[in-house]
Amino acid sequence: MQSLSPSRDEVLFLPLGGTGEIGMNLTLYGHDGAWIAVDLGITFGGDDFPQHPILMADPAFIAARRERLKGIVLTHGHEDHIGALPYLWQRLRCPVYATPFTAALVRSKLNRGGVSDVPLTEIELGGRCALGPFTVEFIHMTHSIPEPNALLIQTPVGHVLHTGDWKLDDRPVVGRGYDYQRLHGLRRSPLLAMACDSTNATVPGRTGSESDLFEPLLAMGRTAKGRIVATAFASNVARLITLARVAEALERRFGVVGESMERMVSAARATGYWPDDLPPLVDSRHLGHLPTGEVLAACTGSQGEPRSALARIAQDLHRDLLLDPDDLVVFSSRAIPGNERSIRRLHRHLQGRGLRIVTDQDAQVHVSGHPAQEELKQLYNWVRPPIVIPVHGTPRHLRANAELARTCHVPEVFLARNGDVCRLSRWGVEKLGQVETGRLSRHPDGKLQPVDAVLLQRMREQAH
Ligand SMILES: [Zn+2]
Ligand SMILES: [Zn+2]
Repeated sequence: MQSLSPSRDEVLFLPLGGTGEIGMNLTLYGHDGAWIAVDLGITFGGDDFPQHPILMADPAFIAARRERLKGIVLTHGHEDHIGALPYLWQRLRCPVYATPFTAALVRSKLNRGGVSDVPLTEIELGGRCALGPFTVEFIHMTHSIPEPNALLIQTPVGHVLHTGDWKLDDRPVVGRGYDYQRLHGLRRSPLLAMACDSTNATVPGRTGSESDLFEPLLAMGRTAKGRIVATAFASNVARLITLARVAEALERRFGVVGESMERMVSAARATGYWPDDLPPLVDSRHLGHLPTGEVLAACTGSQGEPRSALARIAQDLHRDLLLDPDDLVVFSSRAIPGNERSIRRLHRHLQGRGLRIVTDQDAQVHVSGHPAQEELKQLYNWVRPPIVIPVHGTPRHLRANAELARTCHVPEVFLARNGDVCRLSRWGVEKLGQVETGRLSRHPDGKLQPVDAVLLQRMREQAH
């Protein structure tokens, strides 16, 4: 396997991270002696692995042949897709491609990481780029961050649709929506396979639109006497806009608290995603001085991260904002598996101070960014791929997605795992072999260390 070189009559699909687990996405495609990488993400160790706060797929296989790596293409700006760039780019040293919003986040991330020499090319929405024997077309989707893209990876042998993270949101609050025409038109393209998001494949029905949240959040807001503090994923710009609109409707002032959220709003402004008609944001330093009934603050920390804004606010340690028992805290988010203990601890802190908490268990204050079963079926029926390879999920999610694809009469469904070298060609899909995969852990001193075999096994078992 170590001499592996893709030939002219095949496309190789080789996930190094994110297939059989959620997080740290890194997928390679090979054709005619060349490779491209799709995404370069991280995972947080969370409560289960506090000694390993940041984990990523070990790129050793492709680092050893980096002269054949034509580029890294980023689907969207979530940490599980771009987070490892500052740590791993030196090992790969190839061009990077992204749409403008993702590129803005990447530039800011690389600056903070002190990495300055990355050749980053911005691709317009719906645009394409040529990388050696590949042409990669960006197809816009909807998800929980601006500019989620599916990639149509084109070679003379045929195309592969790499969906990235997506859902079908007809009223997404930000962005231009998913490109129905292009997606539907793919049934007439020479498609070899579709590698598809499995995160919500076990969830029946449809995921629901970002727009569905305005009314419930407004109704919730009307019950608040004091401040409203809403915590959400910082990258969910649509959610921040919805919260700003709720604030406007309640005649409250809106501000964001927490660095990552401030950065996200700046990126949204710079790329035209922050609506001009919204009242100006209140600087977080001033929020604490306003009458409590006039404040709606969005803040970081929905996962109970100890250094986040909400964790510090909950312990009265925040510079800008202290809470009173009349205030309402809304968790406009879900618990990412592995963070439950930290979130419970945060809830206890808040409740111990007499604050009212509302979570997605109590009211409709959150929607996911991933496709539930009816959306998966819809996309399979539009695209009609000859082969589906479920990705972006634990083995349970991958199996559920595979089952669903079969019910949609997809002729062939292929369950791959990290390290599997899969050959796609006119004759179908076959596994050629296996390359070694692993994980790197970033220590607080900045060094990257391979996770040892025993721990790796434990981490993988945890994912089942
Ligand atoms: Zn993802
Ligand atoms: Zn995502």
